[in-house]
Amino acid sequence: MINFFIKTYGCQANVADSQAVANFLVNLDCKQVYSEKLADLIIINTCAIREKSEQKIYSYLGRLAKLQKRNSLLKIIVIGCVASYKKKDFYVRFGFITFVSGSRDDKNVLRDKLIDIVLSMQTSKSLLVPNKKDFLDNQDKNNFKLGGVRRETRHSTQSFINIMTGCNNFCTYCIVPFTRGSEISYSSKEILEKIKQDIALGTKEIFLLGQNVNSYKCPETNLNFAQLLEAVAKLEGDFWVRFVSSHPKDMTLDVIKVMAKYKEKVCGFVHHPLQSGSNKILKAMNRSYTLEKYLKQVDWIRNYLPDATISTDIIVGFPGETDQDFEQTLEVIKKIKFDNIFSFIYSPRKFTKAAMLKDNLSYEQKQSRLAILQKIQVDISRANNENYVGCILKCLVEKEAVNGMLLARSAGNHTILFDGDLAKIDTFVNIKINSARATNLIGSLIE
Ligand code: SF4
Repeated sequence: MINFFIKTYGCQANVADSQAVANFLVNLDCKQVYSEKLADLIIINTCAIREKSEQKIYSYLGRLAKLQKRNSLLKIIVIGCVASYKKKDFYVRFGFITFVSGSRDDKNVLRDKLIDIVLSMQTSKSLLVPNKKDFLDNQDKNNFKLGGVRRETRHSTQSFINIMTGCNNFCTYCIVPFTRGSEISYSSKEILEKIKQDIALGTKEIFLLGQNVNSYKCPETNLNFAQLLEAVAKLEGDFWVRFVSSHPKDMTLDVIKVMAKYKEKVCGFVHHPLQSGSNKILKAMNRSYTLEKYLKQVDWIRNYLPDATISTDIIVGFPGETDQDFEQTLEVIKKIKFDNIFSFIYSPRKFTKAAMLKDNLSYEQKQSRLAILQKIQVDISRANNENYVGCILKCLVEKEAVNGMLLARSAGNHTILFDGDLAKIDTFVNIKINSARATNLIGSLIE
């Protein structure tokens, strides 16, 4: 049997893509392993969103070079966003790489290549060699566009479904439209079928994924995102559904109303990327919304979903960001009191418009702004979390935490630690919150 290992960098869309590849390989009688040292085939799913993540991939490949020297039969495949525009670089810098396939490349080519590699490895392992046509006949081609099949990991009750791919927005700092291509929505019928199968297999938590889920439109029925979310929520079964990412440019009140109507199923959590509190910077980023529009959407969420949590993304140090622009961002953060913020220093990416803009700040200034923002947010997150002390939250238990406690997640995306039996993993439980920190809650199980 061929053992494969997948290393995934980046967003949930990449997780879903890796899941599709894993499922495909499992269908080819390969076995997923969780250590590179046990693998015959390693697939690296790359992320180009930040310079730093690209550097991490190169240093990971450097480590794999040593492994490959010890095991010359080891095959290494690079897929994903960086593979879209650095294909030649990968082949030149890392001569041991077997194949490179970018996010925009024809998935049938990757599929055929995987089959060829598996067949040749089976031959070299002197195993029974199946016929390539049989392989092809047995494959579900949709596995490469929908990542809905359960992941063969400890998070076996989570299902990541790419409802769309690509992006048409061309935010001036973002490389995604260049690496993943134009936006394409997948068939709602296929999505719902996949979800139904997953629920039947025991999925408890479904993630609907897209770069901008709010612009989803079913190519066959014109179903929009609110309607798709409602259709998912109406499915029979004991499960939660979440979505990421929403885009303030396209978010509609309908989505919030569906969340409120089906709050037992649709998690009360909205990741709503703001990026900056300054309209001048939002315009320079080509985000196509104003702060006022964003605040109105936050009001929708607060009015219809008073218990919902909100997280956001903030980029610090975008070219042209003045002290005043940064202050505006801090003011908005203090006003909205997000539950969590994913904050980053702006990193110029090749091909993007922003990469051509004059950078007015030193790295030290950007670091200092990031530290100020993060300190403010830590205090807000802690205060928000303290409001849950004494409350009972329904949670899905995900895994054993490093400290021996169990780690669960609430509908509001809080990480909750509690003492409990390992048998509780992958089940819904009620947890009473005893104490709160900025990053997580500590509770005890209510039997
Ligand atoms: S919406 Fe903007 S930031 Fe998000 S993927 Fe598209 S271009 Fe990138």
